[in-house]
Amino acid sequence: MSIFSVAIDGPAGAGKSTVAKGVAKRLGIVYVDTGAMYRAMGLKTIRLGIPSDDAERVVPILEETSVALEFKDGTQHVLLDGEDVSGLIRTQEVSNAASKVSAIPEVRFKMVKLQQQLAKNTSLTMDGRDICQYVLPQAEYKFFVTASPDARTLRRYKELLEKGTLGAMTFNELLVEMHERDTRDSGRDCMPLKKAPDAILIDTTYMSIEESIDAVMRHIGGRE
Ligand code: C5P
Repeated sequence: MSIFSVAIDGPAGAGKSTVAKGVAKRLGIVYVDTGAMYRAMGLKTIRLGIPSDDAERVVPILEETSVALEFKDGTQHVLLDGEDVSGLIRTQEVSNAASKVSAIPEVRFKMVKLQQQLAKNTSLTMDGRDICQYVLPQAEYKFFVTASPDARTLRRYKELLEKGTLGAMTFNELLVEMHERDTRDSGRDCMPLKKAPDAILIDTTYMSIEESIDAVMRHIGGRE
């Protein structure tokens, strides 16, 4: 079978990674979570004590930083300078650092190059903010997965609670932080979060996980 790509964009908490993972499983192809790469870079700035949005200090460390993806038994692991940091990047602190560091064009160029390389060699579903328009504009299937702000915050709230990384944060504080992140992600100059004109809109506000995966799969018929 020829190599093909499923590109999925959307804001935080829309369920896009769950959908992308489920679609990859049904199709028997790789799932690539590009957010993990920006999260790893965000973690690096936290560790170094550098403000994540300070391009003058972040750009010089880019060259000596390695961010790589590894796939073990179909699961993605992100390596930061050779260290598997997959378990350390899901906190709210890292989410915010990732969002800031990802607005720096040099950071994006480095990550996008790696993502494009991956898609050359294997069929995959890839999720992020800029996949349909910038990373894989030639993707065979393109989706923009979204949900209402309340639904997205509730999902993220439950996720952080389950992982034990919510801390003392309230629902309303999380709502504000997610709104700030969305505004930053869609307002940046370089490869902002935006629905591509040719991407199919999937609103998961009132959908279960399985219904959301079905909604995407309806447009990819025949590949299963
Ligand atoms: O998808 P996730 O929430 O893990 O992404 C973390 C942050 O990384 C996002 O808020 C966004 O700023 C950034 N990101 C990006 N482009 C991508 C994936 C993620 O700018 N393709």
